[in-house]
Amino acid sequence: MKAAVYMGIEDMPVKEVDYPSCPDGGVILKVEAVGICGGDVRTYYSGSHKIKPPMILGHEAAGEVVEVCKDHTDYKIGDRLAMAPGIFCNNCYYCSHGMKTMCENLTEIAFQHQGGFAEFMPIPGEAFSNGRIVPIPKDISYEHAALAEPPSSCIYAQERANVSLGETVVIIGAGPIGCIHIQVARARGASKIIMIEISEGRLEKAKLFEADEYINGSKEDAVKVIKEITGGLGADKIIVAAPSALAQQDAVKMCRRRGTIVFFGGLPKDKPTAQLDSNIIHYNDINIMGHYGQERHHVAQVLEMISKGSIDAEKLITDILPLEEISKGFELVKDKKALKVVLKP
Ligand SMILES: [Zn+2]
Ligand SMILES: [Zn+2]
Repeated sequence: MKAAVYMGIEDMPVKEVDYPSCPDGGVILKVEAVGICGGDVRTYYSGSHKIKPPMILGHEAAGEVVEVCKDHTDYKIGDRLAMAPGIFCNNCYYCSHGMKTMCENLTEIAFQHQGGFAEFMPIPGEAFSNGRIVPIPKDISYEHAALAEPPSSCIYAQERANVSLGETVVIIGAGPIGCIHIQVARARGASKIIMIEISEGRLEKAKLFEADEYINGSKEDAVKVIKEITGGLGADKIIVAAPSALAQQDAVKMCRRRGTIVFFGGLPKDKPTAQLDSNIIHYNDINIMGHYGQERHHVAQVLEMISKGSIDAEKLITDILPLEEISKGFELVKDKKALKVVLKP
């Protein structure tokens, strides 16, 4: 079969590899669509301590079951499946205390198990018992289903931050994740959603997602504008979806008392620190939280939201390419010319 094999930094030839062997309790999926994640792009251009090459990347996959392996009971040939990559151990402190996404023994599809930048992928048995494999509803295409993973994490983050009816939500960063956060906040009942972005091009593109206000942070004093819009209070919830220390610092200054800030994504590896005004955090009772991952039901929720149109998958997908053009897809994401790029192996 054909696959893009990650061999190391900027080295990922598309070539013939062996058809995967059927893992006990699992299935073989014919990959019909697979999204390129910002994480894949980071691995390709800067490497990853979690991934040992050679590895087939691509964890935002959707496809059809073409082989059912020994002892598999959940699905049959012809079933359509989507996924999020993580597989929990179900045994550690976190798994047994309702915090599975923090699993100490987490393994992931496209990290330790083969991913979807290939014609076929083996889905291990434990991905069904402890992971996040979900059936695709009939009315959703493979291309749309391949988008299930990124919004599922946004949904969980906003659930944990309790984004609620009538709130003012600021989202910093107009990449695909920021645009998804707009739609999730809207679905949760936020009444005023404000997008801040420093690139005019990205800000323009994000207007498709119909936030209430758009602020170009390189031209305007975003903290001042947020204070004005909120009558001096600051925003209820702020989601930082940009790898920027300055954005994290500003978030503290534009948050209302007892508001919540989500750092959705980190800072560059070589510069992981930000200077936050801890007096504001202390006196204003500000909550700052990180977020990573999703559970199985969040993935199913995304598919339902896509089906109902509250997440508009069509607007998120800007490019569909064959697997052979994977390097072009990676460039589009790296150069911020695309929102979501989906490959059709
Ligand atoms: Zn992803
Ligand atoms: Zn665990």
